[in-house]
Amino acid sequence: MSASAESHRTTLANPPNAMSSEVAEFLAKPKKLFIGGQWHDSRSGQTFDTVDPSTGRAIATVAEGQAEDIDRAVAAARKAFDDSAWSRMRPMERERLLHNLADLIEKHADTIAEIEALDNGKSVVIARHVDVKHAIEVYRYMAGWPSKIEGQTLPLSGSLLPDQTFVGYSLREPVGVVGAIIAWNFPFLLATWKLAPALAAGCTVVLKPAEETPLSALFLGQLITQAGFPEGVVNIVPGFGDTAGAALSSHPDVDKVTFTGSTEVGRLIARAAAGNMKKVTLELGGKSPTIVFGDVDADAAIAGAASAIFFNHGQTCCAGSRLYVQSKRFDEIVEGVSEVARKLKLGPGLNPETQIGPLVSATQRERVMSYISQGMADGAKAVAGGHALDTDGYFVEPTVFTNVNAEMSIVREEIFGPVVVAAKFDDLDEIAAVANQTSYGLAASIWTKDINTVHRLAPKLRAGTVWVNCHNVLDPAMPFGGYKQSGWGRELGKEALNSYLESKSMCINI
Ligand code: NAP
Ligand code: MG
Repeated sequence: MSASAESHRTTLANPPNAMSSEVAEFLAKPKKLFIGGQWHDSRSGQTFDTVDPSTGRAIATVAEGQAEDIDRAVAAARKAFDDSAWSRMRPMERERLLHNLADLIEKHADTIAEIEALDNGKSVVIARHVDVKHAIEVYRYMAGWPSKIEGQTLPLSGSLLPDQTFVGYSLREPVGVVGAIIAWNFPFLLATWKLAPALAAGCTVVLKPAEETPLSALFLGQLITQAGFPEGVVNIVPGFGDTAGAALSSHPDVDKVTFTGSTEVGRLIARAAAGNMKKVTLELGGKSPTIVFGDVDADAAIAGAASAIFFNHGQTCCAGSRLYVQSKRFDEIVEGVSEVARKLKLGPGLNPETQIGPLVSATQRERVMSYISQGMADGAKAVAGGHALDTDGYFVEPTVFTNVNAEMSIVREEIFGPVVVAAKFDDLDEIAAVANQTSYGLAASIWTKDINTVHRLAPKLRAGTVWVNCHNVLDPAMPFGGYKQSGWGRELGKEALNSYLESKSMCINI
């Protein structure tokens, strides 16, 4: 019998009138491509449906961008990059436009959160107070940069031409036209991570949102115009990865590609980008450890470890999907996390009571369930969850596995769902080796009261972020990205801004 047949859990329903009139109005409008400041049908005339994952029903039909639409969007972005309206715009004016956009997003925050909840399935409360709130802060943080992008004076010795004198300095200039391709797990937020630094640097952008979640990006297109960005500075082309995405990542007139998604597709992007040697940023997958030492306060560690994996239904690149607990506290902490898992309320994103929404698609549900079935077949024990719900929505129970070993696929591979594997450890050197036993290196969290443990373990962890007594905490000023196969480069902070800038050395013979 399949693991999906046995669940007796029910889901919450949507309250009456869960959808606001603004969202209903937005959904009713045609969903076109945003190119050169105008809304266009795709050249082929083809469309695709986007689905509410809590019901499996289509909520909107969207124009499907393909290679020729990407050509058109890249041409619009190039024209805008070269046009003096953008290229000669004063830095403080660019700051003002970014602030305008942040203010408009804030004004429409509830609407954007609702669109996100409908299209992706996540809780509308989380969408409003995490995704959209963080996006506003990232635009405001990046809005501070344009007037502070500085080069350096270079103290040249000129020793190869000792009779002459040189003055040297460097300039930072925008890298050019950027192709941005993103995943569906945080649609609005991931678009922000690309657009905010790219625009602060003075680049122009063609954004391809994920096919599962194109709606919040299209809503953003309206706000880009209202904020006052010149036509073609931002272009938004929904479509599929193997057509629109492949055309964008291989396009000869794109200078940089920035990608968030799976390591597998990241590899394809890196190859496609090599054609014209685009600059590349890759934010890829993870299998991050949550490491709990024996001295912790149980309540905080249990709540933290549960949230590390179950936040956003486990569809989080830095999810704490491997839980390691020092042996003497293992039973207590794992039982606590399992109890949280059993009590979490499943329901549609638009119900504010929902704690775990549906997975984003039927495909994702099948993928997660096949990992769960494989884990069981390999001898792991589901001490909480383990089933998909028998509904039209794509719900999977929060699941905790024990009896696991390092060879199992549920321990090695990114599941990208609400599934955590729990195992014991005894000492610090042992857990450092086990934590690093993965091809990924996105993040890790350490839970302890002992500052020595933190400073001894953190340097041994091969991960782009190490949280201590917290997990999944992001900040506009804090770079985020991966070691090893979790990616190239960093999002957020000054490091993200720099990845959209070239350095030009000036050498003047006086
Ligand atoms: P995905 O399958 O890699 O897709 C990501 C994006 O790439 C989508 O827009 C997709 O288009 C597009 N794409 C697919 N094939 C392509 C190709 N051949 N050329 C160009 N673009 C192509 O990833 P996903 O399943 O949507 O997202 C989950 C993954 O993202 C997980 O591995 C997760 O860890 C990772 N992630 C990482 C971060 C981070 O910051 N490190 C953040 C969030 C998510 P379609 O719309 O057609 O699929
Ligand atoms: Mg959808």
